[in-house]
Amino acid sequence: MTEVTVDPIRKEAVTERRPFSNDDENDTLLFEKLEEHILAHYPNPQRIGCPDPAVLKKFADTPREVELPDLNDLHIFKCAECTRTLMELRQQREQAKPL
Ligand SMILES: [Zn+2]
Repeated sequence: MTEVTVDPIRKEAVTERRPFSNDDENDTLLFEKLEEHILAHYPNPQRIGCPDPAVLKKFADTPREVELPDLNDLHIFKCAECTRTLMELRQQREQAKPL
């Protein structure tokens, strides 16, 4: 007989409404401001020091699986091109998400 393992705590954590949703909104706003700042102040048309596009894609999909050295440390915070790429990737992911 096969045993079905259901983790009740985990299930609850997923469905639970977080009371700190306002914090998330603030974080997003801050992040958007940061992106605007990067786009305005760090143009990098020659893409000097940019990580591989595949790394950026992975970072957009599963940030936890990407190490900082793979991203060339904090390069993306000083590169408008990478920031733009990440914004596009995130947008594509949002659009693909079923509501
Ligand atoms: Zn870059």
